Amino acid sequence: MIRPILKYGEAVLHEPAAPVEDITPEVQQLVDDMIETMYAAPGVGLAATQIGVPLRVFVVDISVGRRPEDLIVMINPEFLERDGLQVEEEGCLSVPGFNATVPRPARAVVRGLDREGQMRTVEGIGLLARALQHEMDHLDGVVFVDRLRGIKRDLIVRRLQKLKRAGRW
Ligand SMILES: [Zn+2]
Repeated sequence: MIRPILKYGEAVLHEPAAPVEDITPEVQQLVDDMIETMYAAPGVGLAATQIGVPLRVFVVDISVGRRPEDLIVMINPEFLERDGLQVEEEGCLSVPGFNATVPRPARAVVRGLDREGQMRTVEGIGLLARALQHEMDHLDGVVFVDRLRGIKRDLIVRRLQKLKRAGRW
């Protein structure tokens, strides 16, 4: 089932999510809904908090469904390694219409459980490293806008407030 995606400003997006206790059929249904919602958007990643579920679950597919082996499901993920630096444009399904340059490590290794509860380790470089870190941020209540500083952040926040006042956010 495709679920509505929450937008920047809604409480669940700005609070840390809780670990999943057990891989139940409900959790697997959540994963399936997240995959469907990500592909429908379309996007390269989606965290459970973005559909209003405060659990540490995210899905990523930098091929957006073109290569089945690219689909990554992460439950209770943690970083094993992060290094290097990349400075690229980034967007978010919860902040539609906005992009910004966000510095992040160029490489990230993440370990977590997959949909069946098996431990998986994924190494990402470039776009995949960025997507993994973007989704990990969501699980801690951090949206990419929160990583911006100074005038770049002010500009986006002011435009979001304007949209909100106009009832268009
Ligand atoms: Zn996002």
